[in-house]
Amino acid sequence: MAIEHIVIVGGGTAGWMAAAALSRIRDGRNLKITVVESEMIGTIGVGEATIPPFVEFNRALEIDEREFLSRVDGTFKLGIQFVNWGQVGESYIHPFGNYGYDLGGIGFHQVWHQLRQRGDKRPLQLFNLETMAAHFGKFSRSQDYGRDDLPPMNYAYHINATAYARYLRDYAEKRGVTRKEGIVEDVRLDGESGYVASLSLKDGTQIDGDFFVDCTGFRGLLIEQALGTGYVDWTNYLPCDRAVALPCNRDDGSPPPPFTRATAHKAGWQWQVPLQHRNGNGHVYCSQFMEADEAQDILETNLAGKPTAEPNHLRFVTGRRKKFWNKNVVALGLASGFMEPLESTSIHLINTGVNKLIAMLSLDGVHASQANTYNRLTTKEYERIRDFLILHYKATQRDDSEFWNYCRTMSVPDTLTEKIEIFRANGQVFREEDELFTTTSWAAVMMGQGIAMEGTSPMAEGVANRSAGEIDEMAKSIQWLVQQMPSHAAYLERYCPAP
Ligand code: FAD
Repeated sequence: MAIEHIVIVGGGTAGWMAAAALSRIRDGRNLKITVVESEMIGTIGVGEATIPPFVEFNRALEIDEREFLSRVDGTFKLGIQFVNWGQVGESYIHPFGNYGYDLGGIGFHQVWHQLRQRGDKRPLQLFNLETMAAHFGKFSRSQDYGRDDLPPMNYAYHINATAYARYLRDYAEKRGVTRKEGIVEDVRLDGESGYVASLSLKDGTQIDGDFFVDCTGFRGLLIEQALGTGYVDWTNYLPCDRAVALPCNRDDGSPPPPFTRATAHKAGWQWQVPLQHRNGNGHVYCSQFMEADEAQDILETNLAGKPTAEPNHLRFVTGRRKKFWNKNVVALGLASGFMEPLESTSIHLINTGVNKLIAMLSLDGVHASQANTYNRLTTKEYERIRDFLILHYKATQRDDSEFWNYCRTMSVPDTLTEKIEIFRANGQVFREEDELFTTTSWAAVMMGQGIAMEGTSPMAEGVANRSAGEIDEMAKSIQWLVQQMPSHAAYLERYCPAP
C-alpha cells in the first residue's frame, strides 16, 4: 500500500528530529506528515549533551549554527571529563577527535607507548587538540583559521533539549508538517495485516495513517503497547536504572567549560552539562544499591550553583526493543530503547535512526526486507555502543562500595572481553562495521581507567623510529593553535550569545 500519510506520535526530541528530517522529502510529493503530541503528558525534559555527528545532522537540515545555538542556550563540547571512575581522585578526558594523526593502521597511542618505553615523558594528551583546548577552557572552530595544514577541531554541543524540540517544530511546520495536539487513547490495528491503521485521540479525532513513527518515549505506545514487540533487558550489564535531574545556575560566575563532566559516586555517577546560562545536572544511580533520597542528597551536595527547578526523578530499564521497525512502525528515541546517558548516545541514535529510515523508505509501500535490514543494522549499532558503555563500569578499580564491586566483577559480553584482551596485548583497537566510537575513544577510556598495554606493537616500533620529527611538530602545532584560541566563554559571547 502506498505511503501517503506518515504519522509521528510524540513531540519530544525524537518526534521533532524525525519531523524536521522527513519534511525535507516532502517537496513536490503527495506526502502528508503529522505530529501528534500532548502538552499535558509533556516530554522527558532531559538530554542535553550531544556528540559530533549531531553537528552534521543540523548541517544537513541547513540550520544556521549561530542562530540555533543562541536559541537553545547552546555551548560547545569537546569531550567528556570522567572523574573518579578508575580510582577516586583520578580523572581523564575522553576527547572528540583523535590522538595524533593517522599512521596507517596503527593507533597513535601505540606509537606514543613505544616512545614512552624509550624515556619520552610527554603525556598522550599533548597530542590531542580537543583535550588541550578543553583543559585550558578554549574554543575555536577549524573554519576560523582558514588553513588546512592544522589539525581539525571536532566538537558537538550542549543544548537545552526542550528549546531544540521547539526550534525543530518551527522548522518542520514551516516545511508543511502538521501538528495535532491531543492524547492518543487507542491504537487500531488492521485485522488482516496487523499493521497500525489509525489512532483515536481523547477528543474523539481519528487519525488514519500509512506509516507510523513511534516517538512516545519510554511508553512505546505503538511499538510495545499496540504491537507487543518485546524488550531485550541489559540491566545485568548496565545496572543503573534511576536518575534524578536538577538544573542549577552558575552563581559563582564561573565560565561554561567546553566539556561535559561525569563524576562517579558510590552507586552511579553525576552529569554536569554547561549551557550558556545554567548547568544541567543529574545523578544516574542503581536502585539496588541506593535509595532515591540519598541519590538526591548527593546531587544537591555536589551542585555548582543554586537549583533552578524541582528535582525530577526518572526510572528506566537499560536495553533495546527486540525490533526497532515492526510492521509499519519504526520506533525512535526512548521508545526504541535506552542505554543510559554516559556517552550522550541517545540523541545520536535518533539521528542515525532517522537517517536510515529516510534512506530506506520508499513511498510505494513497506517491504519486509527494509524492516529486516533496519533491525539488523540498528541491533549492531546498539550492541557496539552498549559494549563501550559497559567498559566504563567494568574497567573500574574502585572497591569502596558494593556497586563498584559488582561492576568490577560482573561478566561482560565476549565482544568486550576480547577487545580488552587485544588492547592489553599491544594497544590495538579493532573497530567493527562502522562502529561509532573511534580508536581514540576506546584507548582514552581504557588507559584513563588503568587498562595498561602490556606489550608493544612491532609496527609501532618502526613508526616511532621514522616519525619522531613529525610527532614533535604535531605537538607544537597543537600547542600553538590552543594559544591562539579565545576562551570558550568569549567565543560564545561573540559567535552565538543566548538572550
Ligand atoms: P520524550 O521526550 O519522552 O517525548 C515523548 C513524546 O511523546 C512527548 O511529546 C509526549 O507528549 C508524547 N506522548 C507520549 N504518550 C502520548 C500519547 N498517549 N498521546 C500523545 N502524545 C504522547 N540523550 C542524549 O543524547 N544526551 C544526554 O545527555 C541525555 N541525557 C539523558 C539523561 C537521562 C536521565 C535520560 C533518561 C535520558 C537522557 N537522554 C540523553 C536521552 C534523551 O532524553 C532522549 O533520547 C530524548 O530526549 C528523546 O526523547 P523522546 O523524544 O524519545 O521522548
